[in-house]
Amino acid sequence: MSEETYVYSFEEGDGKNKQLLGGKGANLCEMTQIGLPVPPGFVITTSACREFYHQKKKLPDGLMEQVDKAMADLEKKTGKRFGDPENPLLVSVRSGAAMSMPGMMDTILNLGLNDQSVQGLAKLTNNERFAYDAYRRLLQLFGKVGLRVEDEHFDRVFDAEKDRMGVAQDSDLDAESLKRICKEFKKIIKEKTGGKFPDEPREQLRIAVEAVFASWMGKRAVDYRRQFHITPEMANGTAVNICTMVFGNMGEDSGTGVGFTRNPGTGENRLYGEYLMNAQGEDVVAGVRTPQPLKELRAHMPEVYRELEELRHTLETYYREVQDFEFTIEKGKLYCLQTRTGKMNAWALIRTSNDLVNEGLISEEEAILRIPPAMLEQLLHRRVNPNYDGVPLASGLAASPGAASGKIVFTADRAERLGRMGERVILVREETKPEDIHGFFAAQAILTSRGGRTSHAAVVARGMGKPCVSGCEELLIDSTIGEMRVGDLLLREGDIITIDGTGGHVYQGEVPLVDPEFVEDLLTLLEWADEYARIRVWANADTPEAALKAREYGARGIGLCRTERMFNQPERLPIMRELILAETTEERRKAINQLLPFQLEDFKSIFRIMDGLPVTVRLLDPPLHEFLPTSEELLFEINQLKSFSNSIGAIENLPYTMRILGKSLEEYIPAVETAVGEIEKIRLKKPDAELWKSKEELLQRVKNLSEVNPMLGHRGVRLGISYPEIYEMQIRAIMEAAAEVVKEGVKLQPEIMVPQVCTLQELLWVHKIVREVHDEVQAKHGVDVHMKFGTMIEVVRACMRAGRLAELAEFFSFGTNDLTQATFSFSREDAENKFLPLYKENEILQDNPFEILDVKGVGRLMMITIEWGRRTRKDLVVGICGEQAGHPAAIEFCHDIGVDHVSCSPPRVPIARLAAAHAALKQGSRMPMV
Ligand code: PEP
Ligand code: MG
Repeated sequence: MSEETYVYSFEEGDGKNKQLLGGKGANLCEMTQIGLPVPPGFVITTSACREFYHQKKKLPDGLMEQVDKAMADLEKKTGKRFGDPENPLLVSVRSGAAMSMPGMMDTILNLGLNDQSVQGLAKLTNNERFAYDAYRRLLQLFGKVGLRVEDEHFDRVFDAEKDRMGVAQDSDLDAESLKRICKEFKKIIKEKTGGKFPDEPREQLRIAVEAVFASWMGKRAVDYRRQFHITPEMANGTAVNICTMVFGNMGEDSGTGVGFTRNPGTGENRLYGEYLMNAQGEDVVAGVRTPQPLKELRAHMPEVYRELEELRHTLETYYREVQDFEFTIEKGKLYCLQTRTGKMNAWALIRTSNDLVNEGLISEEEAILRIPPAMLEQLLHRRVNPNYDGVPLASGLAASPGAASGKIVFTADRAERLGRMGERVILVREETKPEDIHGFFAAQAILTSRGGRTSHAAVVARGMGKPCVSGCEELLIDSTIGEMRVGDLLLREGDIITIDGTGGHVYQGEVPLVDPEFVEDLLTLLEWADEYARIRVWANADTPEAALKAREYGARGIGLCRTERMFNQPERLPIMRELILAETTEERRKAINQLLPFQLEDFKSIFRIMDGLPVTVRLLDPPLHEFLPTSEELLFEINQLKSFSNSIGAIENLPYTMRILGKSLEEYIPAVETAVGEIEKIRLKKPDAELWKSKEELLQRVKNLSEVNPMLGHRGVRLGISYPEIYEMQIRAIMEAAAEVVKEGVKLQPEIMVPQVCTLQELLWVHKIVREVHDEVQAKHGVDVHMKFGTMIEVVRACMRAGRLAELAEFFSFGTNDLTQATFSFSREDAENKFLPLYKENEILQDNPFEILDVKGVGRLMMITIEWGRRTRKDLVVGICGEQAGHPAAIEFCHDIGVDHVSCSPPRVPIARLAAAHAALKQGSRMPMV
């Protein structure tokens, strides 16, 4: 029977066979075989490890003979001899399983040293301290790993020597101290094991190999495998890597360093890294000496630098990825000890991926797949400098990415006023409402203490690309007196804070930020991505500015234009309020006729900007009370007005009161009487009477409109049916705008979308208005506007009636904000900061479903909806426009279930485009999802 091969030299081992050689061993073989200057060495297989256990922890027969042969080979290759007192060959003995288990198993360095060869090493390196340091490391590691002597015994010796010499650091001990320590270590080994430290290197090697095998079943390793579910199929036993030690501290012609095949910060195609002459790797890590930039090695050691350039070329041609490698120069000879894929920032990753495609090393598909879509976030927004390590003042939900610093303001009006004066302000509110929109325009960022990721503040800020932290419940905000408290800290208007909407943090004062970098290479990459994607990316955009952004980021259409956002501007909101407060149809029509021109102009601008692309306009959706002040605000104002007339009365009585108080005040009375005369003039003007009355009326109306659960109340199509004039006006504005821009030559693809639909009857009702207005507009403009008609799907019943809805609807758009709310029966306004964090912490839910699409519940409803909808209408177009739509996981799922487009806020469009390409390219390798 032929003997099994347990030992493979780095030249022989199969670099792909990690099961047999372990990850590290296979890599060393691969590196050697592609021509990298790896120090000579060999691998003992994992099968030897299994056999070791099979034979009750005995090395398999013949193994040590194979090791001897391999060692002889190493001696030949290195010109050194194992145990030679003059020129000793030293080796490292390391574990390495098929799966990486960092630090879980044992390693011994400098094997081959003994009392004689340590002197040889001292002579060779001309550094006695180094030689004895290497020796004491061997004694300590060997004692601990190979002979099971507890570490603390060695530590005690070390500490005693440090005390004796009066030094604090190990590195402050000189050669004499280290010699003494070596002696003591050997004594300990003798005491604790009853035997002596084996001077014979072969014996050292045998014990070391056994120890590494034994560490496979050590507690640390077993626990680690259990924790990370590493099964025997994934890794069965450890290999042992025996590698020649090379030293970078053998004089001024030696050194050590770390290199990157390209610059990991900029992506520049140049060797990058740093090195230290006459040093070992740990000197670089310890930071005692400052390394020099690698480019300086060119002048210092031109030949070695040329070899490094060659090494860089070999690494990139073989691995086809930027590599991060470690090297050592021993007496002018270069060695490469390790290489792995270089970690880079987004900018560098994009640039190098593009360059590698252009250099013919990788394909476009590989370049696309190399970049995680979420990484683009770094390139699209300002963010807190990643090196900043300040502690946040408070944290909430990361509602809209980006970062900004500015002065606190507590009302939208103050934001606008200070913003106009050129101040950078942060709008801080308990929650925001449509009437705050002018504050959003003026503010650098928004901070709220209430509301989730789909709250008004979050959605509007995301749409505008402004940073927002919402639901920051630690803040106690009192906007009426203009202050907020966080714990003991009191902040007032004008105090500076920084909002980190990417991480969901608030910092006191100004913290360092870094700018976004939207680079040419990214545009190229996204163009490639579009070629591979099936699912298209549209944007949610409500204003011409947002539409411009959507185009700039490469959106293929507008999937959701929330028309309610158009009523928020300062000159429009009062008209909207008149409309809501109108008692008669007459009054309502009057207000509507004033709103129509505004809507018309908005639609015309958006249609022009989106020339050639679809624009989906959604009819009014939110409950009307959202356009009105809250009853608390109104009550506060009414009370102020009340105290106004009371205060005036008190002032008018002041002269009488003063007379009663006696002579001492007499001399002041004439002046007070003059002042009272002025104040009487104010009273006669009755400035408060009208206002008081209108505020009282408004309060009454607000109370009438108030609902226990407005998000499930009088909103969406239900509102449209209650006040048909509103929908009619909106439809007319869309149709007229379309007819006018068509005459200008704009290629139009307008779509009308109805929100909150639960039955076909609602759609029929709205569609009738669409037809009537269409005909009127056609008669007036002579243009037959073809308008697609469709529905939001955000109510569970709509999913169940999809087949019927598709009889009339030419398209569906999943409003997954409301559909998630409806599916879970979780309030979208409250869940995220009330109980969802607890649910996530306790793993009751894996993700926040308002952020990450719940494919198992909401997703299943979507699948049913699509299936039934397309049974009725084969070419039914399906989109998704809830806040989850821009998330890569949702895009992947939507790709799989046949959604045609996702619509997200404009700044997320690039991420979604890349994610759409990933979804298509990885299609074959996915598990079935629901
Ligand atoms: C939705 O419900 O997902 C949606 C897009 O509509 P809104 O957030 O405006 O209710
Ligand atoms: Mg909705």
